Amino acid sequence: MSEYRYDLFVIGAGSGGVRAARMSSGLGAHVAIAEDRYLGGTCVNVGCVPKKLFVYASHLSEEIENARGFGWSIGNSNFDWSTLIKNKNTEIKRLNGVYKKLLDNTGVETIHGRATIVDEHTVEVEGQQITAERILVATGGWPSIPEIHGKEHIISSNEAFFLESLPEKIIIVGGGYIAVEFAGIFHGLGVDTTLLYRGPLFLRGFDEDIRRALADEMQKKGIKIKFNSNISEIEKNNDEQLIATLEDGERLDAGQIMYATGRTPVTNNLGLEKVSIVLDKDNAIKVNDQYQTNVPSIYAIGDVTNRVNLTPVALAEGMVLAKRLFGNEDKDVDYENIPTCVFSQPNIGTVGLTEEEAREKYDDIELYKSSFRPMKLSLSDSDEKTFMKLIVDKASDLVVGVHMLGPDAGEIIQGIGIALKAGATKKVFDSTIGIHPTAAEEFVTMRDPVKE
Ligand code: FAD
Ligand code: NDP
Repeated sequence: MSEYRYDLFVIGAGSGGVRAARMSSGLGAHVAIAEDRYLGGTCVNVGCVPKKLFVYASHLSEEIENARGFGWSIGNSNFDWSTLIKNKNTEIKRLNGVYKKLLDNTGVETIHGRATIVDEHTVEVEGQQITAERILVATGGWPSIPEIHGKEHIISSNEAFFLESLPEKIIIVGGGYIAVEFAGIFHGLGVDTTLLYRGPLFLRGFDEDIRRALADEMQKKGIKIKFNSNISEIEKNNDEQLIATLEDGERLDAGQIMYATGRTPVTNNLGLEKVSIVLDKDNAIKVNDQYQTNVPSIYAIGDVTNRVNLTPVALAEGMVLAKRLFGNEDKDVDYENIPTCVFSQPNIGTVGLTEEEAREKYDDIELYKSSFRPMKLSLSDSDEKTFMKLIVDKASDLVVGVHMLGPDAGEIIQGIGIALKAGATKKVFDSTIGIHPTAAEEFVTMRDPVKE
């Protein structure tokens, strides 16, 4: 009989926490999980899921427009934001229930409330002290907003999911995933959208050709993009309009200003200082490659460790940790070649190295590029271009990077991710028969490297 009430106590029922709790319980451990806000965490409630629903809603405006070229005449089409919000909320509530059932069915005890750490083996929830042999911190991240004058007037992605009405105009600040995704969402829903990014080109860290191509496509659609631009202060006028003064003195007005300027790990007021848990300079919990903090009985996974902040990565970490602690398995998460998609319009799908990274790593690389108008748009007025790029290490013939901008890029790149993991060479790509007619077949038919 253990001297502790639980084998594992998980703080935070998001992607990583729920997966670790369920797997551990399934492996025979006695597990409890505390959640103070919403089951399923960021991804289900204010992240991936509602965001993707919004992208679908937004993109339908283009689909309706493009349908005309195929002979459809569609009467006056109207969009009702409150219907979208209501239906989205119903779906999220359903998912919250699914999460509760999943936890119940695997024997995990769910505790509603905010948990803090008291000592190496004790947490406190709602005034009650609970002991556990091991504690897992999976508290995720939270929007990080710079200190600017008028900060109280702005929204983050959290609020964007619950706006009472759509503004006529919106300014979005930032140049990461969330900024470009929401610029596409609001624009597609008919909002006059301006994106401000402080650097010369958004999506730092992605392949430069793809970043440029996305900027072109977004501008062609009518999104106003201002690079090398930032807000110095925000005021609200008597008409409830927000006035943003930019660093160069220009003034822009908007009904809403959304900041998508990154996320901070949730490590404050968690009691971490009581056990002297070591944080990095960005307040993320430092862990070793076994997700163990400097306190041997306390572990951390997911966004709170601020490494690769994606749901499938948090899930993989939760799974590996559970198997290591309770299943006698000693596998690591492989952080190489993680495929990812930016749900911008059009999508970016990417896996492996960017051209810039490949040039650093290999002596000689070959590039294959293709830009074309997808067949789906051939009878429409849209001049949106799809762009694809393969990066090959010349010495080994290994495909080391694959990038795409175009419809369903996320769906396509998921499969290519398997090929890269399996170590596919360009010869393997070339010997793969295409599926015709698709956009994806272009990845196996690009024969001539770009001449440099
Ligand atoms: P979270 O999911 O954030 O869960 C942490 C949980 O801990 C929360 O429920 C929180 O309420 C709870 N908690 C915190 N403190 C306490 C406490 N003291 N006591 C009890 N509970 C506590 N990733 C993708 O892969 N694809 C996407 O398309 C995607 N889109 C995104 C869109 C947006 C707008 C955002 C913000 C994120 C998106 N992400 C996406 C990232 C993804 O949501 C995160 O990487 C993922 O949710 C991280 O999981 P986690 O378990 O680490 O943390
Ligand atoms: P990111 O870290 O991706 O991007 C933050 C952006 O804000 C960067 O462009 C950054 O600029 C800019 N920025 C930071 N500080 C300031 C400032 N003070 N003033 C002006 N601009 C600033 O964060 P996001 O908030 O977009 O998303 C958080 C994370 O969530 C992502 O990194 C990703 O891991 C995950 N996510 C994943 C999605 C998906 O899988 N599709 C979708 C949404 C989120 P700079 O580049 O110059 O530093």
